[in-house]
Amino acid sequence: MKTETTIQGLTASLSAARQARKTIGFVPTMGNLHQGHLNLVREARNFCDVVVVSIFVNPIQFGPNEDFDSYPRTLEQDSQLLADVGCDIVFAPSVEQMYGSKPRLTNISVGEITNELCGAQRPGHFDGVAVVVTKLLNIVQPNFALFGQKDYQQLAVIKQFVHDLNIPVEVIGVPIARAEDGLALSSRNSYLSAEHRQIAPVIYQSLQAAEIALKQGQALNDVLNAIREKLVDAGFAIDYVEAKTPSLQNVEQFDQNIVLFVAAKIGKTRLIDNIQIHYSSS
Ligand code: AMP
Repeated sequence: MKTETTIQGLTASLSAARQARKTIGFVPTMGNLHQGHLNLVREARNFCDVVVVSIFVNPIQFGPNEDFDSYPRTLEQDSQLLADVGCDIVFAPSVEQMYGSKPRLTNISVGEITNELCGAQRPGHFDGVAVVVTKLLNIVQPNFALFGQKDYQQLAVIKQFVHDLNIPVEVIGVPIARAEDGLALSSRNSYLSAEHRQIAPVIYQSLQAAEIALKQGQALNDVLNAIREKLVDAGFAIDYVEAKTPSLQNVEQFDQNIVLFVAAKIGKTRLIDNIQIHYSSS
């Protein structure tokens, strides 16, 4: 496995693969890798000739009071994990390499789907994601780019701008990887105290209970309120508990496929999760 820290180095490393028309699969990450990230890499390994993983903590997607400075940076450990799952190239650029010294004047705003859920809580976050993912796609020029459904809204935003801007890549969503107790794996789980780690699975438990309740015919609003109650009782501060259609439109009733979304803080740690619920009229 090669590690490249410059755009020039990465381009040189990929040129032979491009000339040989090999398929390139790309997994963008912010590092501190866990099985969720590694599943994306394994999936890419299954059907791509060359697998590139980027590790870059992107400053412009963090708000002023968010955890950019304290975000865990564990490149050595990450490199070992990536080598073990068959990654070919790690691209780990500096902020300077990605953004240079000349001020950036271009922004990418993806419209209404970025104004709700995490977008409402984190102003500018998805613009920052859209800019860095576009830059990375232009640098790597992959055939396929893989993203986790854990960040469902992020995946929707990326699919939208890739479509709108005709970026020549196929975007693939990969299911959420969970710990045995159901907690969605996240680099931010490492912030949890032992006590909060015990409580954290309540998020997914409440989503699973919601799926059962909906399928038994309970009203969507009541089910959302039951999730809120469970989270508050467990000690969470809720950012949002919402239902949307798979394309992130508002939904009032469970009369079509829906996705339930939770963002909640336990102590200082903000966790997100979601569950896709299939509707069947029979
Ligand atoms: P991050 O390093 O948090 O920016 O995540 C990099 C990629 O890994 C994104 O596409 C995430 O959606 C994905 N990812 C993170 N956690 C999980 C998980 N538990 N299951 C599936 N994908 C994940």
